[in-house]
Amino acid sequence: MRLVTRFAPSPTGLLHLGHAFSALTVFRAAQEADGRFLLRIEDIDRTRCKPEFEEAIYEDLAWLGLDWETPVRRQSDHFGDYEAALNALREKGLVYRCFKTRKEILDEIARAPHLSAERPEGPAYVGAALPAQEERALIDDGAPFAWRLSIEAAKQYLGPAYGALSFTEETPDGVRTVKATPEIFGDPVIARKDNGTSYHLASVHDDALQSVTHVIRGEDLYSAAHLHRLLQALFDYPEPVYRHHRLLTDETGRRLAKRDKAATLQALRESGAKAEDILARLGFEAS
Ligand code: GLU
Repeated sequence: MRLVTRFAPSPTGLLHLGHAFSALTVFRAAQEADGRFLLRIEDIDRTRCKPEFEEAIYEDLAWLGLDWETPVRRQSDHFGDYEAALNALREKGLVYRCFKTRKEILDEIARAPHLSAERPEGPAYVGAALPAQEERALIDDGAPFAWRLSIEAAKQYLGPAYGALSFTEETPDGVRTVKATPEIFGDPVIARKDNGTSYHLASVHDDALQSVTHVIRGEDLYSAAHLHRLLQALFDYPEPVYRHHRLLTDETGRRLAKRDKAATLQALRESGAKAEDILARLGFEAS
């Protein structure tokens, strides 16, 4: 099977050296395997994503020597797809409306020793649908709500297949099979109050739609694979292979972030850096 992989940035700021490292890692993996490289714009967050940052992504990646298949999938053009995916989960009775505010959730977690605020995606909350009448009244009042995936319902739906969920992690030292434990997320938000979807739903949906065989991304998203495997099982999507690469840090060992202006590819380019310099600095041979 031909390798298909993707770089999926969110245009919430300018790309920095850390993104260049990630993009080059993904691109080179495709090249080495004679596979396909896709670029996907993950811009479901309409308040944080800006068209000028999307433009900068194309410019920066082309400057680094990358090319990708077109048309590029831009998630904000496909909210209808994610709504349909959410509806499939609704029909299976796997999601419930959550009207609680972030503060209410945190207060509730603080009172409940079995819940935890220290989970990979922030607080792991487990709730339930409200009684029908109460829910109806809130909906009629126009109260905003998110959709949460009920882990308990997902367990019942999948039966023994839930406990058997795993993912394949390819590392430079070999291949590992990791048991998936999606319950570390509590009941995750699958559709946010503000945009009707979530990174998890949109990303898993698109990886399946685009026939991605290898999800190659930074290790900050490692834990997300646990949940993504569950979503793939619930939707009956194929299982990709995962490679979570190390994250680039600055001299002090701190992870590079969008706030580090000096390390943006645009700033580096404007200060006279050449793409070859960046490649060499990141440990890639010129192609
Ligand atoms: N859009 C995500 C980010 O910018 C990457 C998602 C992924 O590769 O799965 O961090």
